[in-house]
Amino acid sequence: MKRSDSQLIPRNGHTLRAILVARISGGQRQKEASLEDQLDHGKSVVQELYPGPSEFEVLSTTGKGERKDRPELKELDGFIRSRKFDVLVAEDLGRIIRGAEAVKICGLAVDHGVRVISPNDCIDTADESWEEDVISACRDHVGHNAHTSKRIKKKLMNRFIKYGGAPGRPIWGYIIPPDAKTYNDWRKDPNATEIYIAWFEKLLLHGNCSDIADWLNAKKVPPGPYAENDRWDGRMVRRVTANSLLKGMPARGQKHTIKQHEYGRRIAVKNPHGPTYFECTHLAHVPTELFDTVNAKLIEQNRGLGRKTVDGDDPRYRVLKKRTRWPGQHILCGVCGRFMYWGGHGQNEHMMCAGVREYACWNTATFDGVVAGAKLIQSFLSVVESLSGYDEAFLAAIQKTVSERSGHRTERLQIAEQNVKKYQRELTNLMDGVARMGFCDALESRVRETETELKQATALRDRIVNEPITVPELPEIEALKAVARRVTDLGFKDLEFCQTMKSLIPKLMIFPYRPRDGGHVVQRAVLSIDLAPLAGDAEFILDGKLTAEQVVDLFDPPQRIQFLGSIVALKHHAKTEREIARELGITQPVVQRAAALHRKMVESGSDDAYESLLEPPDDDCKRAVHLHHRYEFRPLDGYPQVPPELK
Ligand SMILES: [Zn+2]
Repeated sequence: MKRSDSQLIPRNGHTLRAILVARISGGQRQKEASLEDQLDHGKSVVQELYPGPSEFEVLSTTGKGERKDRPELKELDGFIRSRKFDVLVAEDLGRIIRGAEAVKICGLAVDHGVRVISPNDCIDTADESWEEDVISACRDHVGHNAHTSKRIKKKLMNRFIKYGGAPGRPIWGYIIPPDAKTYNDWRKDPNATEIYIAWFEKLLLHGNCSDIADWLNAKKVPPGPYAENDRWDGRMVRRVTANSLLKGMPARGQKHTIKQHEYGRRIAVKNPHGPTYFECTHLAHVPTELFDTVNAKLIEQNRGLGRKTVDGDDPRYRVLKKRTRWPGQHILCGVCGRFMYWGGHGQNEHMMCAGVREYACWNTATFDGVVAGAKLIQSFLSVVESLSGYDEAFLAAIQKTVSERSGHRTERLQIAEQNVKKYQRELTNLMDGVARMGFCDALESRVRETETELKQATALRDRIVNEPITVPELPEIEALKAVARRVTDLGFKDLEFCQTMKSLIPKLMIFPYRPRDGGHVVQRAVLSIDLAPLAGDAEFILDGKLTAEQVVDLFDPPQRIQFLGSIVALKHHAKTEREIARELGITQPVVQRAAALHRKMVESGSDDAYESLLEPPDDDCKRAVHLHHRYEFRPLDGYPQVPPELK
C-alpha cells in the first residue's frame, strides 16, 4: 500500500486529535457491525502512524454517498475549519462523499493543516501526488467494485479477529446450529473425535492420505457438507488434515487475491503474511502436538514433489492451473465423460482421461497432446478448405431461417432478457453468500461460472437486439476460410484460440481402439464441426447449416497398418511376401502380420484395421487401472457413449 510514512505530529504537542468518518448507505442488509468495523480500521491506521495518546471525533452516518446536503458534511466542514484536528481518516473517500466533491473536502483539509488518509484508496495528503490520487479514486468509485470487495474482506477479517465471526465452511465432524454466526456458536460432533484421532495416528505411522481416504470410505464416513465428491480421495484427506480448525485454531486469510494485469482478473495466491488464527479450543478434535507433527511429516514427505522448477524458476508461475493449453479442457473421454488432461502417466506432453486418476474410468491409453492437436486442426481445416460455394437448396434454407427468425424476434428477446435477469439475481445471491461466509474455492468458482453464464446470456440478448432487420449478407466462402486460417495460426496457448475452437468444435470426444490382431490401445477422436461462428455477425443465418463430423486417429499407426493398403494391393498382383517387403522397404514379418490382420478384417466384414474397445482389455496389465482395489467404474451421466461406427 502506498502510504506516506512521514510521522504524524499533534499540533497541540501532546495528544493527536483525529476525525473518523464512517458511513453505511442504510440498506437493509447493512448492520451496525459494519460501522464499527470501519471505525476500528480507522483507529488502527492512526495508531500505526502515531503511537502516542490520541482522541477521536467520530462522524458516523447513514445515508447515500452521492447526497451533498447531509448535515454531517456541514459538521465535518466545521471540524476542519476549527483547526483543532490533525488527521481525518475514512476507509475510502466514498465514506465521506462520492464523486468530485471529495476533492474539494480534501483541499479544504489540506488548507487547514488536516492530513487526510484513506487506506483503501491509498490516499494520503502527505503524498505529493495526493490531488491526482484523489481525482482518480473518485473516478474509480463511480461504478467500480474492487473497493467493495476489499472493504468486505477487511470487515470479515475484523469480525474474525474480534469474536471469531465470519466462519469458513464447515468440514466433516462439526455441528453448525442454523443461527450460528461465529466459531463460538459451532460445536464439534463428539463422535468424530475418535475417527480424527485414528486418522492422524495412521498418518503418523505411514503417511499415506489415499489409504486414509479408502479407510474413511469403507467406514462410510461422509466427506464434508460442501465437498464436491461424494467420497473421500487422497487430496481431500490432505486438505482436511491441514485444516487448523481440527486443533481448535480456525484460520482466515490463507490466500489473498492479486490482480493479474495480463488478463485483467483477480486470482487467489498464498498470503505472504500467512493466515490469522482465532482460538476456540472447544472445536479441537486433535491435540495440537499430534496435529503439528503429522502436518510437518506430510510437508517433509512431499518436499520436492509438485511442479518442477526449471533453472530455479517455476515455468508455470501464476499460470492458472485450470486454464490449460488446447486441447486440454476440450477433449472428452467417450467412456466416462470427463475431460482429458495433460500429463498422462507422468509424461507432460501426453493426455489422459481425468477419470483414471480418480479410479473411475478404465480408458487409460494416453496420446501425445501436441501431435493430436495438430492432427485435429488439420482435420478441421480440411473441412473448411473443402467448402466450395452455396448451392440453391442451401440458399433457400437460409432464406427460410431468416424469415422465421425475424418472426420470433420478440419472443426470443423476451426469453433472453429473462435469462440475463436470472443470472444477475443468482450473482447477487452468491455475492451475498460471499459477504456472509467469506471467499472460498467452491463459492468463488460458482461466482465465476455464473459470471460466465451471465456474460453468455448478455451476449445472446445483445445479438438478438442487434440482429439486422434486413437479411445480412451471406459471408463469402473465401472470407470464412480466411477467418479459420487466422484463428488456427494463433497457437494452442492462445486464449482466443482455445475459446474459438470450442465453439467451432462443439463436440470433441475420444474412444479407445485396438488393432484387430491385438497390440496397443490407441485413441480415436470424433469431432462435430460447426463453421457458423466463423461468420461473425452473420453467425445466426448459418447456424447449424455448415456442420460436419470427422473421425481422426490421434496416433501414428504401426508399419503393418500404415502399409496395409499397398501390401494388399501387391498381394493381389500375386507378388510374394519377400518381393513385397523389398519393394516397400519393410521387413518380411511386417508383411506377414499385415496379411494376417487383413484376413481378420475380411472375416469381420470391415475395412477398418481397428476395432473399438467396449470394456477394459484383459492383457494390458501395465495400465490396468480396473484391477486396482480402488477402481470402480463411475461414468458421468449419459456415458459411456457409443463409438461412431457402432451407431
Ligand atoms: Zn474416462
